[in-house]
Amino acid sequence: MVEKMNSVSFIKELVFKIAEIGKRSQHINAPDLKNVEPFKHFFDKKGRLKPDELDTMDGAWTKREILTRYLLLNIVLDQGPDIPGVRELLKTVTNALYRKEIRIFHRPLDFFRELNISIDEILKKHDSIKTLRADIWAKQNNSNSSKYNLFFAQSQRGIVSINQVLDYGIHRWGVPLCVPLLLEKDLAGKIETRQPLVDYLESFSSAEVTSMRIKNHERYGLGSAVGNKGCHLFTKWYIHTFHLSSRKDVGWSEWSYEVPFDSNVGRVLFRTGYLLSLADLDYYQSWNVIQQKKNKPHYIRVTNIRGKKVQKDIDDEEIKKNYKDVLLNHLKTRKREPTTIEIQQMPNAILLNSKFGIGDFDDGLIYIGTNFCINDERPKCSKCPLNSICKGFNGNEFLITDYLT
Ligand code: SF4
Repeated sequence: MVEKMNSVSFIKELVFKIAEIGKRSQHINAPDLKNVEPFKHFFDKKGRLKPDELDTMDGAWTKREILTRYLLLNIVLDQGPDIPGVRELLKTVTNALYRKEIRIFHRPLDFFRELNISIDEILKKHDSIKTLRADIWAKQNNSNSSKYNLFFAQSQRGIVSINQVLDYGIHRWGVPLCVPLLLEKDLAGKIETRQPLVDYLESFSSAEVTSMRIKNHERYGLGSAVGNKGCHLFTKWYIHTFHLSSRKDVGWSEWSYEVPFDSNVGRVLFRTGYLLSLADLDYYQSWNVIQQKKNKPHYIRVTNIRGKKVQKDIDDEEIKKNYKDVLLNHLKTRKREPTTIEIQQMPNAILLNSKFGIGDFDDGLIYIGTNFCINDERPKCSKCPLNSICKGFNGNEFLITDYLT
């Protein structure tokens, strides 16, 4: 049985510690934009994005617009099984297409007009990445290297591998490229803009509202091409990682969007005892977050936490006051004062107005989840910077051994 899991001071200490680690981790796992050939001149000699030039033109659009288009495609592709491979695929296909003057972020129609070349390049680059990454991926995932495949589709069971490049190319590459294309066409002759996608994304009252519209907008939404986690990851990159946002109001602050909940986040928050500090195991089972298997380890499906409420008493006036501010002024997803707190939004209330934002917290979770708290029954606890406060490491070993993501 987990003891003293309802301590608010424990949750606060843990959240701040993770955010502090994240701030030092230098945007771990961010897309490598500086090595995408058409963007190289957007960066200085030290590889830093030149912020003063974001509003300057690069062809028909601002540099801010071009990078935003790339990141929108990146979050869709990121749902593939091997993130380093996915990122390499996007970068190398982009480079190859631009060398042939197929400028898919400057002229999205090029992707479809030269569809034979676009598809050929996706196939060719996929083959070379498979040669480089398949063995590493197979070892990390206890799988067979012959199963390495970055092409995927959404099914009722979640993301599944597919072999059809046209399905992958049109649905995963084509849909996010069509968002700026449709905006361009809709605005032509009506409104003059140098950054249609940026203007559209920043037209909503908050970053959180934007992240919802990226998926569910009736005309411009990506729909089944992206999940909620991808939309939040995009928002994090846009605000925190690359500082692309030109909105500076509270609706676009460092606390104005939810943490992108992925498997790294779920594993670290479960093992450290964070999740069980907010609700008992029974709740997570009834929400299908913890999926009981006949034989251990059980499965943690963290995406099912979305919208679920804290079930324990949060006896902390500062958190309650902050949460009201977060919900009404930063996330702007409610008009009435909240009576309960959503689990996924708790870090926003804890970190509000501190020197750490949601991006720092997420960076910390990724750093811990990929370097120490790996998806294995024997994570590297002895070297983990959270080991002094982690409940799994300090007497509740079942949190580590009995549950995986
Ligand atoms: S101490 Fe171990 S279980 Fe806890 S977060 Fe670190 S690696 Fe994970």
